[in-house]
Amino acid sequence: MTNSIDRTPPVFDGHNDLLSVLYRKDTKLEKTIKIIDFETGLDGHLDQEKIKAGGFGGGFFAIWVPSPIDRENRRKQMQRASYDLPLPAEIKQNDAINDTIGQAAILHRLKKERLLEICTNRSAIHDCFRNNQIAAVMHLEGAEAIDPDFYNLEILYEVGLRSLGPVWSRSNRFGHGVPFRYPSNGDIGPGLSEDGVRLIQYCNTKGILIDLSHLNEAGFWDVAKHSWKPLVATHSNAYSVSPHSRNLTDRQLAAIAETQGVVGVNFAVAFLRPDGQANENTALGVILQHLDHLIEHLGEDGVALGSDFDGTTVPKDIKDASGLPKLRQAMRDHGYKQDLIEKICNKNWLRVLELTW
Ligand code: ZN
Repeated sequence: MTNSIDRTPPVFDGHNDLLSVLYRKDTKLEKTIKIIDFETGLDGHLDQEKIKAGGFGGGFFAIWVPSPIDRENRRKQMQRASYDLPLPAEIKQNDAINDTIGQAAILHRLKKERLLEICTNRSAIHDCFRNNQIAAVMHLEGAEAIDPDFYNLEILYEVGLRSLGPVWSRSNRFGHGVPFRYPSNGDIGPGLSEDGVRLIQYCNTKGILIDLSHLNEAGFWDVAKHSWKPLVATHSNAYSVSPHSRNLTDRQLAAIAETQGVVGVNFAVAFLRPDGQANENTALGVILQHLDHLIEHLGEDGVALGSDFDGTTVPKDIKDASGLPKLRQAMRDHGYKQDLIEKICNKNWLRVLELTW
């Protein structure tokens, strides 16, 4: 039974793709999605009603430049016993700028309509929790739009950007993402470029969080070497539970733990399931398996959530943001104490954001 207690603590979440849903210029869609649809209802994981029902307090809102990929075909291939999907082609900076500015503008339109706040400090996020407002951190997933002089990054910072993943599952001037490959570790390809190393240093100086999710392993170790902030993976899981290229080995987890960093558990069934399959018939128990493993390796202060809502296939039992009370209940049933549940739901993200900003 869902009761009011299940909606707290609010979930502050490491990753969602709502902005690219609201922005999508997909010709296959029958109608254009507008901001107002966020209020009146959307088919995906996030809209105002689902957010209220689930006690979703906000999180990282990703700006993501789409690759021309057939999602349905990708999902089908990822239901095989093993798979190795090629990396999508690189995207030129000029081609990435419009999509990036467009999604940043949509976040600002949502703010203008008082549907959320764009937060750049911890107390603003707390204010949102108190006022039942959605707290959004502007995040860039793949830095294709950023020039080597970081002019564009400086402007994005000024409009609220405080988190950045150098790559999505693609290569760019800064580094290389992992392909969707199972079974496989993330040790695929070379590390960061010289521009990539400078990007890490720039982000450190500005107080922009660097996200390790999607980076290949060599890139991960380059960030670990050059960054002096806590290491963070906003939406990745444990390789020991699911040997997927997108997940983190115990050695990587040890490096994150050393810096008092955080990993947000991704609800993507393909990265959760030991068999790597994109099958929505996935019990919530497997999320607990990843949480247990991450707690063992990162400690109770290093584990959070990174749903990937609106960007992936999630377990049928969660369905969308309105299913979050089931996850809180599953954590309670699993024996997690209230203090730990609060850390997983939001406190650990807030701690690491404050340290980084
Ligand atoms: Zn992602």
